[in-house]
Amino acid sequence: MNMTAQQIRQAFLDFFASKGHTIVPSAPIVVKNDPTLMFTNAGMNQFKDVFLGEAAAKAPRVADTQRCLRVSGKHNDLEEVGVDTYHHTMFEMLGNWSFGDYFKKEAIDWSWELLTSVYGLEKDRLYVTYFEGDEKEGLAKDQEAYDFWKQYVAEDHILPGNKKDNFWEMGETGPCGPCSEIHFDGRTDEERAKVSGAELVNNDDPNVIEIWNNVFMQFNRLKDSSLHPLPARHVDTGMGFERLVRVLQGKTSNYDTDVFMPLIEFISDKSGKTYYPEALPPGEGLGGADWNEAVAMRVMADHIRAISFAIADGQLPSNNKAGYVIRRILRRAVRYSYQYLGFKEPFLNQLVPLLAEQFKGVFDELYSQKDFVQKVVLEEEFAFLRTLESGLRRFNTYFDISNEQGIVTHIDEDISEHVKIKRENIESRRNGIVSGNFAFELSDTFGFPLDLTELIAREKGWTVDAEGFHKALELQKSRSRAATAIDTGDWILLKEDDTVTFTGYDETETVAHIIKYRKVKAKGKEQFQLVLDKTPFYAESGGQVGDTGDLIFPDGEIVKTTDTKKENGLIVHFTDELPESLDDALTAYVDPERRFNINNNHSATHLLHAAMKQVLGSHVNQKGSLVNADYLRFDFSHFSKVTEEELAQIEIIVNQKIRENIFLKEERDVPYQQALDSGVTALFGEKYGDFVRVITFDDSFSKELCGGTHVKATGQIGYFKIISESAVAAGVRRIEAITGAGVEKYINEQSQLVHQLKELLKNPKDIAKSIETLLEENNRLKKEIEKAVNEKASGLKTELAQKAESVNGINFIAQKVALPNAEAIKTLAYHLKDVVNDLFLVLVADIDGKPNITVMVAENLVKERGLNAGNIVRELAKEVQGGGGGQPFFATAGGKDVSGLDRVLEKARGFLS
Ligand code: ATP
Ligand code: MG
Repeated sequence: MNMTAQQIRQAFLDFFASKGHTIVPSAPIVVKNDPTLMFTNAGMNQFKDVFLGEAAAKAPRVADTQRCLRVSGKHNDLEEVGVDTYHHTMFEMLGNWSFGDYFKKEAIDWSWELLTSVYGLEKDRLYVTYFEGDEKEGLAKDQEAYDFWKQYVAEDHILPGNKKDNFWEMGETGPCGPCSEIHFDGRTDEERAKVSGAELVNNDDPNVIEIWNNVFMQFNRLKDSSLHPLPARHVDTGMGFERLVRVLQGKTSNYDTDVFMPLIEFISDKSGKTYYPEALPPGEGLGGADWNEAVAMRVMADHIRAISFAIADGQLPSNNKAGYVIRRILRRAVRYSYQYLGFKEPFLNQLVPLLAEQFKGVFDELYSQKDFVQKVVLEEEFAFLRTLESGLRRFNTYFDISNEQGIVTHIDEDISEHVKIKRENIESRRNGIVSGNFAFELSDTFGFPLDLTELIAREKGWTVDAEGFHKALELQKSRSRAATAIDTGDWILLKEDDTVTFTGYDETETVAHIIKYRKVKAKGKEQFQLVLDKTPFYAESGGQVGDTGDLIFPDGEIVKTTDTKKENGLIVHFTDELPESLDDALTAYVDPERRFNINNNHSATHLLHAAMKQVLGSHVNQKGSLVNADYLRFDFSHFSKVTEEELAQIEIIVNQKIRENIFLKEERDVPYQQALDSGVTALFGEKYGDFVRVITFDDSFSKELCGGTHVKATGQIGYFKIISESAVAAGVRRIEAITGAGVEKYINEQSQLVHQLKELLKNPKDIAKSIETLLEENNRLKKEIEKAVNEKASGLKTELAQKAESVNGINFIAQKVALPNAEAIKTLAYHLKDVVNDLFLVLVADIDGKPNITVMVAENLVKERGLNAGNIVRELAKEVQGGGGGQPFFATAGGKDVSGLDRVLEKARGFLS
């Protein structure tokens, strides 16, 4: 049977639909509102709150294909990618779930049925594993799983696995349980006859690989690491789509399938290099050049997928956090293609349209934004190629040992450490070794990976201290780990009732109880997190900041809420202290003025978005938003600067809508599809539930899916003013604006300023005109002064030239001059040099109470008589308590004591002998 990748994906979904599963869409690859995770790294992520018991499942059986990224944190496969043939950065994870419904039996039955009957895989090539138990944890072997497998699989194909491979945990704490993997042996029959596949399972053999993992969640792990049975047991499975396709299409590499081949062929074509899938690493094969090229092609074909989907889901490359991870992946692809495929100009971006086409109908997010994504990738490539080149220049100065002083690497707060490193650097450069610290600097600042550094070093006959590099890298890692370490305690449950109601759309004050709390330690600071059964506090999301306010207790105790955040669907209140009366009813009281201003800014953001679509066009899409009490920030896709006229036009529309005092239409629990059909603006990269909230200001103007808080009617916003427009990234612009009281303050400041100006200018009729006149007059005066000074200097030139004394073949002039600035004195000195041969000139001046010394020595005297203006001026400056320097033929100095100027002139004569 020869199925295409599309058919294989569809067959999976159809199979589980036929077993009563609801097929759901993939969540975005970029995770929002989860402090523990940047990117989706498994199909189960979007169901985390269900497993934690913090939300109800939408259906008891669910299946999907989830786009995943494993490039950071606990799952980081980046270094394997391209080097091996079955780990990707971005991959699709096919999954089926049971939420408290079926368990081990059905999960095992169905995975076997799908693989062998539907897909027709050869049974003898399949190996399965089960959890062998763990004495320390007090866990018995997973006999159930073993017995279910035994119905289908020969005993020598059922293998025990230890805690590392066969016990899955969501994190340090939380749901966990035994798992059972399915592996496929794709070797030739000869190889299989020689060595049994059973010996190669979980042994890094590229042809005996894991394709599917079935997790049976039945425990909850607490902070003290004890395990407790879960009330409801779940199934969570994940199958690597690209690995499945490879196995079904009879290939020995994921890249040889129709998932990757179109990309590889395009790269091979454009680089003019052949792709050799079987190429071996240097040492194992011949030379290794083919190997490097093959790895580079795989890296490009793989990385463009991760980059494109991250950008499409709203994560732009940047200098921190998730954005930096994406930037690093992109740079990894660029330097591979630069180094091994000869792409010195941006190329990676050309793969975007190809990829978008390929995922049409699967993940449409990419297709609908392909121009934008391509543009972002292109700009990043440009920037990085420039960085690469400056890195190469930097490297060349390093090789140049005559320039030892110039190299200062790895600036550190600790000065002694810094000096030590500098010394090591100089030492190792003398020995033809690139120091670990310099290699690290190249990697950290210029994105040079170690192997690139080694390659360049080798070309110059140098070696690289790889050990030192890894040390420096480790040091940086442990520093950033220490900076971000958060110690989170277990939740302490106060009330069983675990449902949380948000009341903040309707009120800012609610009587409530604490359901649970915990202690959190971050950066040495202790904080508490409280969950209430009801709360008016809005938790930070959708760009709107979290509410602050008070928790007021019957006995008068007031505990301040400093922030409110979402975690897995919970609304978490941050406080600096723990309330004394934990069990009492309390009044949760949101700071009303702050919330009022936030509402203004949020509603204004919607009006702005709608006005922009009118003025700039429908391609304008939200790419980021911040709404707080002071202002609003709105990032959007648009390819050119927004002109003054356009900005004015946008402001006019928004303010008009404010004055129309449009009433808010708020619809909660609208079925998602119905909302889309009614023409709402939905955002890319946002995960919407089955029921959504629609915020409308005038049906024909602004209609958005939004969970934020808003004004009751637009008139409340008062006034809207854009205060800046700028670029954030390629194809992304940013507008910042203020509303209501913020504008009032802004306008008051502006008119205050105008008032001050008027007073300074003695109340002219036309301020602009009178400033213009002032500037013109100022310019004219400046020119006149310049002219006068020049005239004076050339008058002095003749006078001074006549005063030259001839001593030992030197024409010596030492004079005090009355010129208003150092520039004029310098001009005079150069003029004199032109008319007096063998000149040794010392001019001193009192410039506004400060001494000035200028020394000029004819070039022939510098050489023949060893006179050096720089040294001379330094010596002379001592007389005025000052210092200076310059070149051997011209130098200047300043100081504190003008009374010493006469002594300077006397001393100058001393240099003649
Ligand atoms: P491996 O040991 O091969 O890295 P894993 O134990 O990390 O796999 P799981 O976390 O169990 O894998 O993920 C479930 C499935 O997802 C795996 O069986 C595999 O098919 C697939 N998978 C995991 N990581 C990757 C990756 N980086 N690229 C492609 N597929 C992957
Ligand atoms: Mg792995």
